[in-house]
Amino acid sequence: MIPNNISKEHILKAIKWIDTKGVPTKRESNKFSLVLEGKWYPPKYVITIANLFANGKELSPSLFSGGDETNGYLDKQGFTITNDESNKNEFPITSSSWTILSSTVFIKEMDKSSFIHHGLAIPKVFRHYFNIDSLKRGEHKTIVLIHKGIMYDARFEMDNIDSPRTRLFWKSDLVGLIRSELPDWFSYYKDNTAKPQNLPQLRFERNIERDNVISIEFVNPTEISLDIDGEIGEEQEPKAEGSLKYYYGKRYERKPENRKRAIELHGYVCAVCGFNFEEVYGIRGKRFIEIHHTKPLSTLNKEQIIDPLTDLIPVCSNCHRMIHRRKDDILSIEEIKRTFDEYKLDL
Ligand SMILES: [Zn+2]
Ligand SMILES: [Zn+2]
Repeated sequence: MIPNNISKEHILKAIKWIDTKGVPTKRESNKFSLVLEGKWYPPKYVITIANLFANGKELSPSLFSGGDETNGYLDKQGFTITNDESNKNEFPITSSSWTILSSTVFIKEMDKSSFIHHGLAIPKVFRHYFNIDSLKRGEHKTIVLIHKGIMYDARFEMDNIDSPRTRLFWKSDLVGLIRSELPDWFSYYKDNTAKPQNLPQLRFERNIERDNVISIEFVNPTEISLDIDGEIGEEQEPKAEGSLKYYYGKRYERKPENRKRAIELHGYVCAVCGFNFEEVYGIRGKRFIEIHHTKPLSTLNKEQIIDPLTDLIPVCSNCHRMIHRRKDDILSIEEIKRTFDEYKLDL
């Protein structure tokens, strides 16, 4: 029996306790879960621990039962109990070149038709995600695709034939966008140039309030893995160049005495873009800046002397990441500055 002096407050305390201590493996539940703020807890173990707060000791699992007794008790206290099976996340769902990631976000691996036919096909089983289940043979529905705030007219069309296909068509303005976003792929299909690596993806996000509005974005999986490479390269160093190995930055950037001297010399303002963390983040950002080491150092040269005045430069996290974005193409301060100056005019 569950002691009836276990209150909602005791249960919340138990949940907090479980948050910090975790659940012993043999007390995991494989059938039901108490769901609170997106987290899942084994109901019977929650009661066991709640008893600790109500009556000073854990309630042995042999003294009460899971299922109806436990779930009923928690339900009466206002908690949500779910059957794990029925709540298994149904996503992602993949079919042909589509992946449905959630009820509003869909990924389409771009293929030939995206580049030369002004559109793409929507698998029948995915129609309802686009809210076009009611579309009948020969009908169409106009929509707006939005990319970085710019609107592109488009439409869903149902062929006027037996077992019609559903397709999304766009106009020449969006073709122009694809051409500028993915020039290599565009010329591969249009002009038979060399085939680029790794097909880009088109990401769709349906607007929940307005079902005729869909945001789009181009996602490039290759770039994402290169970025991860760049970040790992920044952590690990060194980078081999011919028979020499070079260290780029980080180990020197992290040394406290180097950092201190660099900041004393240069201050806390980003040398590239002028960003000052305190101006934007207040106390949280006060006296924060990253330090970039500008010279690759040969490992053979053991007694490398760092001159903090010229070799260690304060940069904000954005500029620093852009400098190191590609491990085999680290920008100099002059290069990143030129890039920044060129584009800031457009802001
Ligand atoms: Zn900066
Ligand atoms: Zn750096």
